[in-house]
Amino acid sequence: MNDPILFLDLNKQQVRIGKILKDRIDKVFSHGKFILGPEVQELEDRLAEYVGVSYCIGVSSGTDAIQIALMGENVGRGDAVFLPAFTYTATAEVPLLLGATPIFVDINPETFQIDPINLKSAIDKVKKENKLKPKAIIGVDLFGQPAPWNELCQIANDENLFLLDDCAQSFGGQYHGKKLGSQADATITSFFPSKPFGAYGDGGAIFTNSLEKFELYRSLRSHGEGQTRYQVLRTGINGRLDTIQAAILLAKFGYLEEELVRREEIATLYDAALLSCVKIPARVLNSKSAWAIYSILLSDEAERKFVQDTLKAENIPSAIYYPLPLHLQPAYHSYHDGTYLSVSEEVSKRILALPIHPELSNAQVNRVIQAVLKVKK
Ligand SMILES: *Cc1c(COP(=O)(O)O)cnc(C)c1O
Repeated sequence: MNDPILFLDLNKQQVRIGKILKDRIDKVFSHGKFILGPEVQELEDRLAEYVGVSYCIGVSSGTDAIQIALMGENVGRGDAVFLPAFTYTATAEVPLLLGATPIFVDINPETFQIDPINLKSAIDKVKKENKLKPKAIIGVDLFGQPAPWNELCQIANDENLFLLDDCAQSFGGQYHGKKLGSQADATITSFFPSKPFGAYGDGGAIFTNSLEKFELYRSLRSHGEGQTRYQVLRTGINGRLDTIQAAILLAKFGYLEEELVRREEIATLYDAALLSCVKIPARVLNSKSAWAIYSILLSDEAERKFVQDTLKAENIPSAIYYPLPLHLQPAYHSYHDGTYLSVSEEVSKRILALPIHPELSNAQVNRVIQAVLKVKK
């Protein structure tokens, strides 16, 4: 009855897809092209088609994908890059590594996605202060759901800013009937093992419809190389997707859609049982979530601790994304102007993520539900 439930179950997944996985990996060992082998291109072609964009570039991680995209715009000293305060650290880390300044924007209290009105005022403020040059917006598709792309595109257009979609958590999600990946100037995703489309190691990709950006990103991912390997056109990085990870992703690709369906089923079960007693991030209208993370909102920190302990006693893991918004993190707070970002700060004290992955059975989902209801009924 009380067998441990896992937050992520890659072992069960490996067994489920075992044969095709093994064949794919064996093939890489036999051809021996471990760097940019044919699997990388094959995966890029498949994913570009799946997302509905012209180009996909496989890279070494989601973080490196952000770096390549921002290097492609020459983001650097004196530039302001606008991003939500409530996201994973990688979104803010890369602008800083490149010498730019992250500007933290508060989220919408219903969907927890970046709030376009707050974004607009943050841009106006930077323009008025006239110390930094507004350069780029990074919209994050948080937890599997899309950011408000119509509004973000409008603002980026009006302000002439580069618009990047950080879709690390939401590959396979949809916005207004289209897969995420084509809404911004470029979109990045991550194949970190716990993401909805995860490898068994690090990996990532960039999507774009621009031939010019595609060629630039390909060059940047391989040390800025030109037509030949020893022609160096620009400063780049070693940011290639590993062939074995590409082979693993190709094996898993055939299961992605059914896994997304299973995640949606689990989310629907959670919603039906929990919506009347806990607050849950609102579903973004006209969209489909990839359900990287299923979160609920408790009344306060103490109640969250109580729910976590209750779950733990029943062998059920939970997690907090994120315990602190980025503008309050020691690494970043000196870049923040002190503005109170009320929603991000409030939500980080109350949010709790429940297990959601395709290997969970309905009985296990019910155990999680019953454990939450013990506290919240
Ligand atoms: C995971 C994640 C990243 C980074 O991806 P890696 O592949 O781990 O480098 C970036 N942004 C967000 C929002 C993420 O969740």
